[in-house]
Amino acid sequence: MLLEEQRKQVIDIARQALQSGLIMRTMGNFSMRDSKTGYVCITPSGMDYSVVRPEDIVVMDTQQIVIDGSRKPSIESGMHCLAYQERPDVLGVCHTHSCFATAWACVEEPFPLVLAEMAAVLGEKLETAPFFPMGSEELAEATIQTLGIQNAVLMSNHGQLTVGPTLDKALANAQLVEEAAKIACYAVSIGKPKAISPGQANLLQQWISENYGQ
Ligand code: 13P
Ligand code: ZN
Repeated sequence: MLLEEQRKQVIDIARQALQSGLIMRTMGNFSMRDSKTGYVCITPSGMDYSVVRPEDIVVMDTQQIVIDGSRKPSIESGMHCLAYQERPDVLGVCHTHSCFATAWACVEEPFPLVLAEMAAVLGEKLETAPFFPMGSEELAEATIQTLGIQNAVLMSNHGQLTVGPTLDKALANAQLVEEAAKIACYAVSIGKPKAISPGQANLLQQWISENYGQ
């Protein structure tokens, strides 16, 4: 089977997202780009990730031409493929409707950057892309344009999208966005949130890339 290992990895990440409560039922989609062929392995539309098999994962090129697989691919394939086209550094994309991130995507207020860990990993801002119907070309364009050089973006009245140099890192970014969104929700319910400045965020990002972990 073409890209069997990569297809299995996509399923593993989708199941981790399901288990960690980032997605409900079939909402959300996951993909990874194979660095050798450039092909994208993406989840099928509307299938339960707990029973999905490697052959259900669709392999396509970044123009959405199907290379292998008989399932209908995610309706957000255009958004994933556009992320890969615009960002050569990206090898993994996650889209979820996680609860707290989506709550922030449903209000006019800009997301307050309150969590140091998020500033350190994701950078100085988390912007919200304008609303367009799910699966539309307009949604793909607006979301990837708003994402820009960041690794996460909120999608108005819909959810969040994260990218990473691996699919595992894209999932970690989605978990971090959800955690930060939850903390921001509690913070605004307690009082006026103290946001981290863009300058502090940049310093944190630099420091963590040089010093954190093994
Ligand atoms: P798919 O099941 O087609 O991936 O769609 C789910 C979704 O999140 C649409 O925005
Ligand atoms: Zn969606």
